[in-house]
Amino acid sequence: MSRISILGLGAMGAALAMTLIRKGHSVTVWNRTASRSEPLASAGATVAASPAEAIANSDLTILCVVDYPAARAILAEAEPVLANRDLVNLTNGTPGEAKDLAAFLQARGAAYLDGGIMAIPPMIGDDGALILYSGSAALFEGHKAALDALAASHYLGDDPGLAPLYDLALLSGMYGLFSGFMHASALVTSGGGKAVDFLPLLLPWLQAMSGTLPDLADKVDSGRHDQNVVSNLAMQKIALDNIVRASREEGVAPDFMEPMLRLAARRVADGHGSDDISGVIETIRRQK
Ligand code: NDP
Repeated sequence: MSRISILGLGAMGAALAMTLIRKGHSVTVWNRTASRSEPLASAGATVAASPAEAIANSDLTILCVVDYPAARAILAEAEPVLANRDLVNLTNGTPGEAKDLAAFLQARGAAYLDGGIMAIPPMIGDDGALILYSGSAALFEGHKAALDALAASHYLGDDPGLAPLYDLALLSGMYGLFSGFMHASALVTSGGGKAVDFLPLLLPWLQAMSGTLPDLADKVDSGRHDQNVVSNLAMQKIALDNIVRASREEGVAPDFMEPMLRLAARRVADGHGSDDISGVIETIRRQK
């Protein structure tokens, strides 16, 4: 079993450390606020006095703190011991931040793997938890058994920016779902209904609509939004306009829906009203 250090014992770091202890690994912990180490010490972890001590006494170090500036500050403090160390950063951030941190560590002789946790703390170590990784393939392969103890591991490639990019893409899908749910619920409750009673209608509808995603994904990849169109954008733009107007009639702010209407209207005005709704992506995606 590996000797693993966990730096950062917030809700997520503590769950990572506790899971590794439970699965038989030798775990060292460090947290800025020392009192947060106590439950881990009671469960069998060694408590390090500094990040450098934790890193120096482990085969693998996993960071999980609030943001990249905090991660960078911790690693800068441990700079003298970074050479030849294996570091995994599971802190949420941007691809640019991951690449900067990877370059900082590479320059100091450390191997770096970035990770994006697709789970909440109680899911860690159980089925259904997923962690996306990118960066050093050798580090990923070398520590795969320990990483698999935390969640299903999915390696995306050697660019350290890929894990945060895919993490944030998945979160974008989630926030789209949440914003749709909130707007739909605001409409239903404005009419005297209850969100909980609306779910038996909403959930099968969302499931049916998610069945259209493979076709939309093909159109996104090919850039051909004019193939096999059954619900054209000009028609859908009117539906979006109706949603916004109905929201105002009901006293519901259309703030979630107006951006979608604006993008659809721009695409229709550009002459693409007979295309599928997938064409709206052309108004926002990076130009080739
Ligand atoms: P918490 O707010 O519970 O904990 C934050 C941690 O960051 C604490 O250990 C805190 O230390 C530490 N910290 C903050 N600032 C500094 C600093 N300047 N120097 C050193 N340490 C610092 O957050 P979580 O544990 O929930 O989240 C950690 C990461 O995990 C985030 O990037 C989050 O996005 C990600 N994540 C969290 C999920 C969740 O559901 N909780 C889900 C998926 C990812 P201290 O105790 O001293 O304040």
